Amino acid sequence: MPAASTQPAIEGWFAADDSGATHLIGGKCAQCATYVFPPRENNCPNPACDSDVLNLVPLSRRGKVWSYTENRYPPPAPYPAPDPFEPFAIAAVQLADEGLIVLGKVVEGTLAADLKVGMDMELTTMPLYTDADGVERTTYAWMVADARSKEGTAR
Ligand SMILES: [Zn+2]
Repeated sequence: MPAASTQPAIEGWFAADDSGATHLIGGKCAQCATYVFPPRENNCPNPACDSDVLNLVPLSRRGKVWSYTENRYPPPAPYPAPDPFEPFAIAAVQLADEGLIVLGKVVEGTLAADLKVGMDMELTTMPLYTDADGVERTTYAWMVADARSKEGTAR
């Protein structure tokens, strides 16, 4: 069997459903329903809750921009950075159903000037780097949601 040429950079943070749409995976407290991202399976973050069981659940694919910034400098070694380095935007997006705020890179071609607080965003994936075995490692990313496409509308 040939090795997959594309793999997530970090296992278990996001997955694709049958239609190929990517969603994040979060932890949800079995007792108080508090969500966490990145996902973990214990240690509820709610100080008023003593539960130690979080279930892994798919999170909303959409949300609204809560805050954003632009990274104009490459990260220091050993973090992988493309050469030449291109500035990229980072958005903190509040998920539609959970209210959780998830920080992520914004897809190439969208910079801070293109973003606004409250803007609808949608989850996708983008290549992050190619590892020593030639495997393209991907990460989740935010893109501006297409205003014309409505969630759940079939063609
Ligand atoms: Zn809890």
